[in-house]
Order: sequence, then C-alpha cells, then structure tokens
Amino acid sequence: VLVPIGLLLGGAGALASLYLVRKRASLPAVLRTALRKMEFVLHYQPIVELASGRMVGAEALLRWPRHDGSQVMRPDAVIRVAEDCGLIRRLTVYVLAQLATEAPAFIRQHPDGYISINLSPSDLHDEDILEQLRQLIETPGIAARNLVVEITEHSFLDPTRASRNITAIRALGIRVAIDDFGTGFSGLSHLATLKTDYLKIDKVFVDTIGTDSATSEVALHIVRIAHSLGLTVIAEGIESRLQADLLREQGVEYAQGWLFSHAQPMEALLRGQAAA
Ligand code: C2E
Ligand code: MG
Ligand code: MG
Ligand code: MG
Repeated sequence: VLVPIGLLLGGAGALASLYLVRKRASLPAVLRTALRKMEFVLHYQPIVELASGRMVGAEALLRWPRHDGSQVMRPDAVIRVAEDCGLIRRLTVYVLAQLATEAPAFIRQHPDGYISINLSPSDLHDEDILEQLRQLIETPGIAARNLVVEITEHSFLDPTRASRNITAIRALGIRVAIDDFGTGFSGLSHLATLKTDYLKIDKVFVDTIGTDSATSEVALHIVRIAHSLGLTVIAEGIESRLQADLLREQGVEYAQGWLFSHAQPMEALLRGQAAA
C-alpha cells in the first residue's frame, strides 16, 4: 500500500496506531532511518526545588521534530515501537550519546545539578546498560553524581534482574528514580525492597491535588510512604501555583511541570529561560 508514511505518522496518535496495525513491517524501517539520519533530539525539562524555586536538575525527553517544529510521533509512542521491534537498545545508545555531548555544558553551569534520563524496562534488563552508563560517566565533564536514571514500575516485572541492575547502577554513583509511581501494578513491596533515591509522583495524582477526592488522598499517602522509606519526592506535571503550594506544604521536595517550564533545547536551557 503506497500511502505516504509522513502523512500517516503526522496525524493523531490514533492514526499512527492504525498504521501500526496495518503495516507493522514498515514502521521499524522508518525508525531505523530516523536513527541513522539522527532525526531525534533531546529536550530538557527543569526540575525545581519547591521551597526555593531553584533548578536542581533537568529531565532529558526524546523529541522527533519536523522542520516546521511539530513532532512526527510522541516519545512514548516512539519508545513503544522501538521496544516492539527490537530497536530500543539502539535508541537508548543514541540518547546516551546525545546526552554525552550536551550534558557537560549544563553541568559546567550547574555543578551540583543533575540530568535525568529515562530507561525503558528492556534497557534495565539488558546487562549492556551498565557498560553504557559507565562510558557516560567517563565522559569528560560528566560525573556519576550529575546523573539520575528514571525507571518505571514495569521494570519490576523481572524483579530479580531489575534489582541487580539497580544495585549496580547505584554502585556506580548514579542515582535512581522510580518514575510514574502509582500507575503501574507493582504495589508497594518493590518500593520497600529495591533501594532507590527518588520517587516521582505521576501527573494523574498531581492533577487531583487540592480536590476533595480519594485520588488526592492516595497522593498524600504516597508522599508519606516515600518519605518513610527515605526517598526524595518529585511531583510531575505541575500546572498551577495551587498544586505547587499544596505539595510543598506536604513536604514534597522537588517538582517539574509547565508552571515552571516546558522541556526545551539545551541552548535555551543554558540561556536561562527556565525558571532558574
Ligand atoms: P515521563 O518520563 O513521565 O516524562 C514526563 C512527561 O510529562 C513528559 O512527556 C513531559 O513533557 C510531560 N509533562 C511535564 N510537565 C507537564 C505538565 O505540566 N503538563 C503536562 N500535560 N505534561 C507535562 P513526554 O515528553 O511526552 O514524554 C512521555 C514519556 O515518554 C516520558 O514520560 C517517558 O516515559 C518517555 N520518554 C521520553 N523520552 C524518553 C527517552 O529518551 N527514553 C525512554 N526510554 N523513554 C522516554
Ligand atoms: Mg521520566
Ligand atoms: Mg513520569
Ligand atoms: Mg510518564
């Protein structure tokens, strides 16, 4: 079927998934070409300390821009396809290489700051990830203390392997954050047994903060549990001052969200357009 791929991928996510169902064989080829042509870039979203408004770090987020600035596909969709067609390792290597070139300037400007990177579950189950992270921290201008890796509860589907790699990553001096907490199925047992550093509360909980709902109650309990385990809490997807204030009153240390800044190219971040 000769349908222009750009047209199909350009539409809503629904169109992209329709495309996936119909022409599963071709999307991997499109991804592979995009990787070879280095069409993916990283944008960085500031993470701020709620008490001071100071930027403590930034999360690297994958972008696949067109020339007009729009996106070919959303990052979570790119990751899903890459996972499905066995390209995730190459994509992760690409992201880490990109980071190696961009992180040093950020760290020069923020010596105590960190860049956090998202790892997908198969990355965490791949022994090779340790070698890649070791190479990253050997890059001049990047130290282990300037890096955080974010993993989701889906990584705990193989808890033995996941915990072995988490331990090894932390032994390198790289901190670990549990991302999107509360949206997976892992429950609390892994949180207690896997030693990590940060817990990121998903936007779905943040959205209910300040409302009189059960979900809002759950969010506050997650904060308390995280603190009782010695974790630093990062709230994701903060869009209003009210959310920021209420979370700060609950002792949430860090936050990221459009209230503070969108993700932006490294040059823009360095020019200080972020809420610094
Ligand atoms: P995530 O790691 O939970 O990243 C946070 C997402 O929330 C990002 O979506 C960010 O742009 C969005 N966000 C931040 N603040 C706000 C806000 O105030 N309001 C709203 N509505 N959204 C906000 P994004 O960039 O679309 O990324 C989606 C997901 O794709 C990420 O979720 C992460 O799971 C995955 N991802 C992105 N880049 C990478 C990557 O390099 N590698 C891997 N494995 N996954 C990645
Ligand atoms: Mg993340
Ligand atoms: Mg998240
Ligand atoms: Mg997410």
